[in-house]
Amino acid sequence: MATDIKMLFCIALAAVLSGVGKSAFVGKSHSEGKDDPVLQYVVNNSLREHPVLTKLRLRTLEDRWNVMMVASEQAQLMANLIKLINGSKAIEIGMYTGYNTLSMALAMPENGRVVACEIDNSYVDIARPFFKEAGVEHMIDVRLQLALTTLDELIAAGEAGTYDFVFIDADKINYDRYYEKSLELIRRGGIIAIDNVLWSGRVVNPAPDDLYSQALDALNKKLHKDQRIDLSMLTVGDGLTIAIKR
Ligand code: CA
Repeated sequence: MATDIKMLFCIALAAVLSGVGKSAFVGKSHSEGKDDPVLQYVVNNSLREHPVLTKLRLRTLEDRWNVMMVASEQAQLMANLIKLINGSKAIEIGMYTGYNTLSMALAMPENGRVVACEIDNSYVDIARPFFKEAGVEHMIDVRLQLALTTLDELIAAGEAGTYDFVFIDADKINYDRYYEKSLELIRRGGIIAIDNVLWSGRVVNPAPDDLYSQALDALNKKLHKDQRIDLSMLTVGDGLTIAIKR
């Protein structure tokens, strides 16, 4: 992920650690929310993590940007949604070290395919041995370039309307563009899951100079009125929107 995004995550993490927004927002299970007893209860009594996913999660926690990893219970929810809709084609916009990528691939049949968009090769290098160990390397198509380029390529290749699931978790300024292209690429009844839609609670009253919160807030409000989808916004992780294409 781009350096400015990393910096923003760092600022966001610092804000959470200092207690900003804590009363209104429960953090992720593996990072800022790890001391929350209710969240730990949820994880302890519901998480069914594949052994290789556990290894990849522990490896990712060694990385300084591990706050970018999807919370385990959120990844499991999305894997269950993929199973629910018999998903076999997915796109991940912002792969990072591949924890959720692997989780999605493991939720699919043997002929399933995940197109994983990432711009930082060092993260891909971390991910690949775990994909191989889990036996799903052949199912994961990593595209090391700007996600918008990859989405345009998929549309140009005639794949509009063929994807079951898209997870959007990259730079927030481009979220609206990712959403529109994703909506084109998924089939009716397909799901677009959008991460960080609460942005540690800062979407509630975005500061005048807070462009990321403003972008997320604008997208949240747009989706609320968007008749092309059915909609849920969940407080899991850092806020997760589930948009189902009508
Ligand atoms: Ca995220």
